[in-house]
Amino acid sequence: MLLSLSPRSEVLAQSTDGGAYSESPFRTLDLRAPNSVRNASGRPGNGFWQQEVDYVIHATLNPENQELIGRESIRYVNHSPDDLSYFWLHLEQNACQANSVSNSLKQPPLVFLGAIFDFSCQGFIGGHTLESVTLGGQNLRYTIFGTTMRIDLEEPLASGGEITFEIAWRFTIPPYGLARMGRDGTLYEMAQWFPRLAVYDDVRGWNSEPYIGAGEFYLEYGDYDVTLTLPSEYIVAATGDLQNPDEVLTGDQRRRLQRAMTESAPVAIITQSEAGDPSKTRPLSTAPGASSGTLDWRFTAETVRDFAFAASPDFRWDATSWEGVRIEALYRDGAANWEEAILMARESIKYFSEQWYPYPYSHATTIEGPIEGMEYPMLTFVPAMDAPEDLHWVVAHEFGHEWFPMLVGSNERFYPWMDEGFNTFIDLEGAARYFEGTDYGKSIEWNPLAIYAENAIASEEQPMILRAAEQSNLFWTAYQKPALMLQLLRHEVLGPERFDFAFRGYIEAWANKHPTPTDFFRFMKDASGMDLDFYWRQWVMTAARLDQAVVSVSGVSSEGRSEIILANNEAMVMPVEMKIDFEDGTHTTLNFPVEMWNQGPRFTYNLLDPRQVIRLTLDPRQRYPDDDRSNNTWIR
Ligand SMILES: [Zn+2]
Repeated sequence: MLLSLSPRSEVLAQSTDGGAYSESPFRTLDLRAPNSVRNASGRPGNGFWQQEVDYVIHATLNPENQELIGRESIRYVNHSPDDLSYFWLHLEQNACQANSVSNSLKQPPLVFLGAIFDFSCQGFIGGHTLESVTLGGQNLRYTIFGTTMRIDLEEPLASGGEITFEIAWRFTIPPYGLARMGRDGTLYEMAQWFPRLAVYDDVRGWNSEPYIGAGEFYLEYGDYDVTLTLPSEYIVAATGDLQNPDEVLTGDQRRRLQRAMTESAPVAIITQSEAGDPSKTRPLSTAPGASSGTLDWRFTAETVRDFAFAASPDFRWDATSWEGVRIEALYRDGAANWEEAILMARESIKYFSEQWYPYPYSHATTIEGPIEGMEYPMLTFVPAMDAPEDLHWVVAHEFGHEWFPMLVGSNERFYPWMDEGFNTFIDLEGAARYFEGTDYGKSIEWNPLAIYAENAIASEEQPMILRAAEQSNLFWTAYQKPALMLQLLRHEVLGPERFDFAFRGYIEAWANKHPTPTDFFRFMKDASGMDLDFYWRQWVMTAARLDQAVVSVSGVSSEGRSEIILANNEAMVMPVEMKIDFEDGTHTTLNFPVEMWNQGPRFTYNLLDPRQVIRLTLDPRQRYPDDDRSNNTWIR
C-alpha cells in the first residue's frame, strides 16, 4: 500500500476545541528532495534526462484468421546516467492469457456513466507469441512474466549508448481486449498491440507494472515508422502521418482531404453512399481482385508515447480542420449521432487549444466502434451513443487525453488522477460551452459537486493518490473528484487568472516529459505564488472532509461591533464566503482567504457595523462539498 497517512488520523490531528492544532493542516508536505533532474520549482532541471525509444514496425493484419503478425526494430537510447543490463517490456496482449492477473482475479466490470469497462477478454484466451528476439541476428535471452518481459543483455548498455534490437511476434486479435482494443465484424480497433518498452526513469528505475486493467499505459516518447499491411478494401486510420496517400487513397479522397483543410464546413472524404463499396473507396489499381489483394499503409510519427490504428472496409469518413490541425471522424453508417461527431471533435480541439495549450499533433481522429472510450496519440476510440450529450462527453474526453497524458506524460498506472482527473477538469467547461443555453449546459460544469454526496462516502472514500488498480470507486477518485479539486482551486482559492497561468505553465514545462505528483505540486506552488501543500494533502494524499460552521454571533456592542466566531470542524481547510443579512433588510458578502485558519480551527471576526446581524450564511453559493450544511446558517 502506498498510503501512509490515513484519512482518520488526519481528522483526529485537528482539534476543534478552539485551541491550537495538534498538527497544522498547513505543515509542509514531505516530498522527495529536489535535484538537478527535477528541481525545486517543479520543472525539469538542468540535469533532466529521459530515455528515447524509436520503433520501426511492419505488421500484417489478416482478417481471415484474425491474426496480427508483426516484426519491429527498437532503437533504445540510454540518456540515463546508469548502465542498463536488462530491459523491461510490456506484452499487453498477455492480459488475455488464461492465467493472467485479470483472468485469475475475475475482477467485476467497472460501470460508470452507463458505460461498462470490463478489464477482461470476456472469455477469449490469447496472448503474444514471440517468434524471435534478436540483436544483430543473435538471439537475446528473455523471460516472460505475464504482461511483462525482461530482456537480458550480454553487455550492459552504457550510459549515453544506444542499441537496436528486433522482435518478431504474432497474436490472435481478441474481440474484446480489456476495454481498450478489439474487433467487431470487419472493424478493428488496434491498441496495446506490439511489444513496447517500459519507462526507465530517475524516480522509480524501471516502471514495469503489469497490465491488469484500470491503469492504462505508461511509455517512453519516441519516433514511429509503421507499415501496416491489410486487404486492399480496408481503410486505415492511425497515429502519425500517412506517408503514401497516392498509393492507398483515391484521387477524390486526396482532393477532399485538401478541401477539408481550407473549407469551414466538414467535408465527407468517404460519403454515406460510397461507404462499404470498394469500387468507390479504393484506388482502382488495388481493388479486390487486383494482383496482391493487399495494401501497405505507412505512417510516421515523432515524439509520441504510443501508436494505435483502426481499420474497416465500411467507414464513412468526415474531415474538417482547425488552425492547420486535420480533424477526422470515421464511423459505420447508422452509428447514432456520429454525423455530429466531427463538429464535437472540432469544438473540443479548439477549446482545449485556446484555453490551455495548442494541440500538439497534425491530426485528431476519432473512430466509432465497440470500445467505450479510449485514447492514443492522435487517435481515439468512441462508441455510438443515443444521447448527443453522452457522445459529446466521450468525444471531448478522449481528445482531452491528447493533453493528459499523451502530451503531459504522467504515469497512468500509478496516478490516474493526473490524466483522467486533469482531463475531466478541462472537459467540464468545454461541455458547458458546447451545450450553452441548455439545461445540460447549465448543470454539467459543476456536476462533480452535485454527485459529491453519493460518491464521497466518509467511511469508504479512498485518497486519490492510490494507484489505479487499488481504487474501488475509480469514477470518483480518478475522474470526478480531481476535477472538483481543480475547479475549487481555480475558482475559490486562486482565482482563474492565477490558476490558469500556473496550469498552462505546467503543461508547457512537462510537454513530452514524465511529471510526478511532486513535480506538479511544486510547479503549482511556484507559478501561483501560493504554498498549496495543505491543498494537496487534503485532496490528494488523504480523503479529508470539509465542515465549515458558524459558532456564534454577538449582538452589536456600544462601539458598533459584532463578534462572529466561525469553526472548521474537519480536516479540510478552505476559504470562507460569508453572507450577512442585517436588520434593515440589506446584506453584504465577505470573503476570507484560507489563511484565516492559520492559527487554529476557530476564527473570530470583528464586524464593525452599527446594524444588528439577523442572519449569517456560510458558502451561500453552495460551492463547497460541506458535510453538514445545518451549521452553515445562523439566525438571530
Ligand atoms: Zn479517460
